[in-house]
Amino acid sequence: MGGGKTTRKYRSKISVKVLICFLIIGLVPLVVVSFVLITAAHDQMLSVATAKQQSTAADLAGRVDEYLARKTDSVTLAARLYAASPGQADQILTSLLKQDSSLQKVTILTTDGLQRTATTVNGIVKIAVDRIKSDDSTLDALTGKQTLLTINRDVNNNPQITVGQAITSPQSTAQKKNAGGIIANYKVGNEWKSILSDKDGASSYAYVVDDTGNLVYHPDPNVLSTHTDLKNIEVVQNFVGGTVATQQTVSELGQKVVSTPGATQAGWGVIVEEPVSSIYASSNAFADIAVSVSTIAITFSILASLFLSRRLARPVQKLLIGVRRLSQGMTAQKIDIKTKDEFHEIADVLNNIGNNIGSMMNNLKANNRDLTFEQSKLHSIINSVNDGIIAVNRKGEIISINLPAAKLVNQIPYALKGKRITEIFPWKQEGEPLELNFIRTGITTHSDIVLAKGESMAYLDLTVEVLDDETDVAAIITIHDQTASRELSFMKLDFVAIAAHELRTPLTVISGYLDMLQNEAIHELSEFNAESLQRAIVGANQLRALINKLLNIARIERGDMEIFIEKLNLTDLVTKNVEEHQPIAKQKEQTLTFTNHTNIAQYAPADPASIVEVLNNLIGNALKYTPRSGHIQVNLIANEQHVRVEVIDDGPGIPEDLRDKLFTKFYRAERSLIAGTRGTGLGLFISRTIIELQNGTIGIESREGSGSVFYFTLPVYDPTRDDAIVAKNISGGIHGWFKKRSAH
Ligand code: ADP
Repeated sequence: MGGGKTTRKYRSKISVKVLICFLIIGLVPLVVVSFVLITAAHDQMLSVATAKQQSTAADLAGRVDEYLARKTDSVTLAARLYAASPGQADQILTSLLKQDSSLQKVTILTTDGLQRTATTVNGIVKIAVDRIKSDDSTLDALTGKQTLLTINRDVNNNPQITVGQAITSPQSTAQKKNAGGIIANYKVGNEWKSILSDKDGASSYAYVVDDTGNLVYHPDPNVLSTHTDLKNIEVVQNFVGGTVATQQTVSELGQKVVSTPGATQAGWGVIVEEPVSSIYASSNAFADIAVSVSTIAITFSILASLFLSRRLARPVQKLLIGVRRLSQGMTAQKIDIKTKDEFHEIADVLNNIGNNIGSMMNNLKANNRDLTFEQSKLHSIINSVNDGIIAVNRKGEIISINLPAAKLVNQIPYALKGKRITEIFPWKQEGEPLELNFIRTGITTHSDIVLAKGESMAYLDLTVEVLDDETDVAAIITIHDQTASRELSFMKLDFVAIAAHELRTPLTVISGYLDMLQNEAIHELSEFNAESLQRAIVGANQLRALINKLLNIARIERGDMEIFIEKLNLTDLVTKNVEEHQPIAKQKEQTLTFTNHTNIAQYAPADPASIVEVLNNLIGNALKYTPRSGHIQVNLIANEQHVRVEVIDDGPGIPEDLRDKLFTKFYRAERSLIAGTRGTGLGLFISRTIIELQNGTIGIESREGSGSVFYFTLPVYDPTRDDAIVAKNISGGIHGWFKKRSAH
């Protein structure tokens, strides 16, 4: 898994960080302190060593001086002795050789061209007398000098010191010329070891060069045998050049050394040297300790950082695995960290988060299950109801639609989603396209909606509920399909209309005969028969009225009510109708009077037959519900716009709360039922329909005391407006200016 890699990467990072921390905290100060201390110690050691070396160099130079002085003195003495008694030459030479074992050879050179040389061979002094070689320049070298001091090599390449002394006689002194010279060759041997034995440190040593850099003595025989001079060695060069300061340089052995030359009186140099490593030996020991300590510290740091990083990385790794599990939704697995530190705390917090997420997820799952269940329930409910249900957004686009709604337009619900509802459902109300509002919240109902469905029509009632919440759904439209019940009720209405029509024909015949009897034979009838005839006539009239009502109701319900508008003289019509009702009033001993309060004939654009029907209903009801001997007053009132006909009685009156209900279909007040009056509860409904079809109003007003005031108004005839309507009616082109349903 990629995670393992990541964890390892993190662990190494942590360990590196820890290691760096350890190193910075522990090691850096140690190194710095060590460095500072060692540097200071070095400086101190160097200055001590330098001081010592300088005094040693001076001391040793003094010793060399003493040595040379001793040798020079011996030779000088011998020269004087020889000058005093030249015949003693051999004795002088022998005694000189015997005095000093380092003296290898001593020679007396005389101006007469002879040289007398004494050497020691196996402890016996041998003296040889020769002529001075012609190329020997020793005497010349001595000319003008008292002593001569040189360094040169013997036959074995061992360095030897040559001390020469001029021999002066009284004559020669007068002639300012030497009488000869005495030359002594000293080997540079063990004697020098002791001369230069005072050394500073274990590795300190001294060697001697002459004033030109020729090597006189060196404690290392190798150097002595291989180098005749050290002129190319820096310190020697400096010395020859006149500088006698201490310096750090590279020695003749190739070592780094601190070197101090000490100058002898003869101009020779005693070079005291000590390797730098030896000077710093003790501080190097300290440095070694520092290095050891640092090594231990580094080792410890690495181990500690490994240990700590493991301690840090392991919980981090566990946390990481835990968090990754959480992110993958595995909330049940706990992070197991018991370190009693912040990691422990983080683990606890994460475990708690895991618990919470776990229970939240469980709740969510449960809720989701419930929701899914509810949703499918709702879905099947919505699809199983007969009513169509459509959810739309604010733009009027279909969000959801159930099967019954989709079936109205011969579609499946899925195909209609996202489409505009007005394009899918071209519904109409009273012949006009129906615009639905999805902005104003609340419920609106739309009845008698027609939707063309291929060849046929669907009759629908719509309920539009506009929601006020912020969801996508702006409105829910419920569609109740009334087509089937509408067809059924139309069939019923057709039946009623046919039945009524069929009844009216024989009734007309019966009424004709009854009228004929009344007009022509009433006087021939007995009182009982005359009364019976009268009752038959009343019954026939009631039956006609009922049949008319039924036919009117059927027409209204089917939307087939036809109105023929003309310029109607309302005054005449009411006067006539009141007259026609007088016989009935008389029968109940009621007074029925009519007053035209306008004093002139009032005209209205109206259909006389239907207005007669309304008057029959209102005046008939007044007579019917007003007790015997009551009074019924009919008034005609008008203003500029309206003519008003009111029928006032002093009957039982209408309670306030019933007034609206009276104009609905089949409504009969309880009291009427109790009083036993006959009625259908249709009259006022038909009257309202007739009056409203002709732009009028109808209603009840309260009356002081008892009784009722029923009224209707019609517009006053306005020729500029109404003549055209009337003309159309007369021309017979239009049967009525109102037809409720264009489809029928
Ligand atoms: P119907 O008279 O055939 O019952 P209507 O529609 O004409 O039907 O009247 C409805 C009801 O109104 C009546 O049943 C009656 O209770 C009440 N009503 C109508 N006119 C009057 C009136 N003038 N006085 C009292 N009640 C009346």
